[in-house]
Amino acid sequence: MHPEHTAIAPAIDTSSAGFLPPGLLNRLESSGPRYTSYPTADRFVEAHGPEQHVLALAQRAQGIGGAVGSSAPLSVYVHVPFCESLCYYCACNKIVTKHHERGAEYLKLLDAEIDMWTAGLGGRPRVTQLHLGGGTPTFLSDTELTQLTERLKQAFEWLPGIEASIEVDPRTVNAARLAHLKALGFNRLSLGIQDFDLRVQQAVHRVQSFADVAQLMQDARTLGYQSINLDLICGLPLQTIASFDRTLQQVIELRPERIALYAYAHLPQRFKAQRRIHSADIPLPETRLQMHAQAISAFMQAGYEHIGMDHFALPSDALAQAKRQGRLHRNFQGYTVQPDGDLIGLGVSAISRVGASYCQNAKTIEEYADALAQGQWPVVRGIALNRDDLVRRATIMALMCQGRLDFQGLADAHLIDPKKYFAAELEALKSHQEQGLVQISDQAVEVTPLGWFFVRSVAAVFDRFLQLEGAREKFSKII
Ligand code: SF4
Repeated sequence: MHPEHTAIAPAIDTSSAGFLPPGLLNRLESSGPRYTSYPTADRFVEAHGPEQHVLALAQRAQGIGGAVGSSAPLSVYVHVPFCESLCYYCACNKIVTKHHERGAEYLKLLDAEIDMWTAGLGGRPRVTQLHLGGGTPTFLSDTELTQLTERLKQAFEWLPGIEASIEVDPRTVNAARLAHLKALGFNRLSLGIQDFDLRVQQAVHRVQSFADVAQLMQDARTLGYQSINLDLICGLPLQTIASFDRTLQQVIELRPERIALYAYAHLPQRFKAQRRIHSADIPLPETRLQMHAQAISAFMQAGYEHIGMDHFALPSDALAQAKRQGRLHRNFQGYTVQPDGDLIGLGVSAISRVGASYCQNAKTIEEYADALAQGQWPVVRGIALNRDDLVRRATIMALMCQGRLDFQGLADAHLIDPKKYFAAELEALKSHQEQGLVQISDQAVEVTPLGWFFVRSVAAVFDRFLQLEGAREKFSKII
């Protein structure tokens, strides 16, 4: 629907880290959500519990309230919360334990939840995307992973071409385990790297050598994995411009199909693990910004395409192709080539999207297990979207994924006059236009190539909840 050139235009010179002017970075160093959903999860309410979830499922079955019909294929996410060892920067919902028998107990709980979903959705729902995340999914043994995937195949119809991905802690796998995962049907891997510098790795309690990761990537390629993603973090303790540059060169040498680059947000009051990081070791904000700009520049010079925010992909990767063709979408797994649709989140803290609603499972295993033992949905909070939420979700996702808000398209889909409906937002967006981040015309708002780096800030203008003063402070930094 959207012309290819709206996605990526090489209109900025990225040959040095200075292409992101420090003044602009500083001005935009405010905060904004990552918009894997709208409304964002912090807006979910306890009043939306199991009863409301059952109602959403019933409405879905009748084709009410969602953008997709009840027969549209689904995405499935499974949260495995266990990790053997604690990474000090961690902000995930995880349980650090060496007791591997907990995996078997957890699988029984997942089994019970899968039963509830198949009964609630009816039949054997079709699935085009599966993601195992955590925690550390490879905390489970090969036998347990077989058990889990067989159960998922029995409950859901895996459609041809399914994107089956798994987060892999390089310290927990070898070639044999990767071969096992491939045989189970996984075709994509996401490896947590963060940084290759030994001192930085020691400071965050996650030591894994470049040689080991390189070997794993070689093994994965020999086994025929379609796409490998590497996660990096800038702003970690003891990182310097020079040390991070070495990591960047090592990552480029490995040539993963995708790279996700995150900025570390040090919030020790909120995340206990981070209290083990010495604040004095954290790079200064200016240094962090410089490292971030340096990384973006290095990846683009190495031939990667900027997908949006902090994601990069080789031009041949499905994500880059989807972006060029305006087919990019966004869900709790980040940017995806999957069509916009419902998502089943299985396991503790997992979030589901059903029609025009979201819901989240209990965050502790005890609470999750209690609900299932009573034959109840383990849902503890959620939200049903009203008409305004649906208009804003469509707007925010169009900006985050296509980089373009087409007024006529929005008017046709939602029976509104976008220029009147968003008169205040379009006025507020003028400052972004002055900074060269968007172009506003009579037909559309278009995100410029420079604006893609700040697309969260552009999208946030349309977030009704953020219009409430002070709400922004709760989110991590944009960049
Ligand atoms: S960063 Fe990942 S592997 Fe490390 S403790 Fe957190 S969830 Fe576990």
